[in-house]
Amino acid sequence: MKITINKKDKSRMGEVDFENLGFGTDFSDHMFVMDYDDGEWHDPRIVPFENLSVSPAMMTLHYAQTIFEGLKAYRTVDGDISVFRPHEHARRLNVSAERLCIPEVDTLLFMDALKKLLELDREWVPKKKGDSLYIRPFVFATDEYLGVGISKSYKFMIITSPVSLYYKEGLNPVSLVTSGEYSRACPGGTGYVKAGGNYAASLYPAKLAKDAGYTQVLWLDGLEHRYVEEVGTMNIFFYFNDELVTPPLSGTILGGITRDSVIDLAREWGVTVNVRRITIDEVLERAEKGELKEAFGTGTAAIISPVGKIAHGEKEVIVNDYETGELSHQLYDRLSKIRYGEMEDPYDWCLRL
Ligand SMILES: *Cc1c(COP(=O)(O)O)cnc(C)c1O
Repeated sequence: MKITINKKDKSRMGEVDFENLGFGTDFSDHMFVMDYDDGEWHDPRIVPFENLSVSPAMMTLHYAQTIFEGLKAYRTVDGDISVFRPHEHARRLNVSAERLCIPEVDTLLFMDALKKLLELDREWVPKKKGDSLYIRPFVFATDEYLGVGISKSYKFMIITSPVSLYYKEGLNPVSLVTSGEYSRACPGGTGYVKAGGNYAASLYPAKLAKDAGYTQVLWLDGLEHRYVEEVGTMNIFFYFNDELVTPPLSGTILGGITRDSVIDLAREWGVTVNVRRITIDEVLERAEKGELKEAFGTGTAAIISPVGKIAHGEKEVIVNDYETGELSHQLYDRLSKIRYGEMEDPYDWCLRL
């Protein structure tokens, strides 16, 4: 399918303060849109970023039949654009699509749309180290209908936003608290996909954690509240003596692409990586014995987010004296260097434009 392009007359770049970017507050000049009706995707197009006009009865607004992805484009040291593992994101979008009864998006078209959009808005990829262009592909149901059912029409869109690092803390440790009462996901649910509703459901427990003085919720499994699953909207890793542990993708955990990359790098460096279930009790006990050297979250937004404190019920442990550990540092550093083209990319993770 041929993508048509309708260019914006005058760029809004001058209105954006590239020295003080936030996260997801500014949007580049163009966006990609494609519609689905009568059983097929049609009219792929790039148009100026603008508001949509939707029916108040649009199904997504009521029943959350919507999915998304999040990936980043970086400005390399030689001025190219490098996009981190876009194929994996295209593939994961379709895993989410299947679970939400949303029609698949052809991965080749996804890639074509992404490339054309980035070529057009190339100047929007920030030049400052640490900054990047956050890319948000998403699909949502557009039928005007208040019955609960599978929509017959959809929109697939890609918008982009120049961003600074997600957490103001940067590579500084965050504090976590488990939720004794709430869960992010349960077996048979939608925890393994990026479906809008998952995030709506996480807001209240996240607010309680913030009110209690912590940065993020450390999510435990929905059945027994014993096994560690994720942290906020990131995957979680624990580094004990000589073992790096992360929970398996059992259906309640989102298969992070950063998680996958971290596993590859750690194994390459000779670290023993065990993908296994881990109880919160093991984490606390081993932390108290001094065996927990580091803990960190992984995700596209923050890349690596070191953990400085973990609270669970009456117990609270400090990790690595509330400092960023060596492995966290090395992982962050290597992932950055690969993205910014400062080091070779042996896994072919980056798409260069
Ligand atoms: C997106 C996301 C992650 C991280 O995935 P990446 O591909 O590394 O960005 C982890 N957990 C949840 C719940 C997420 O939504």
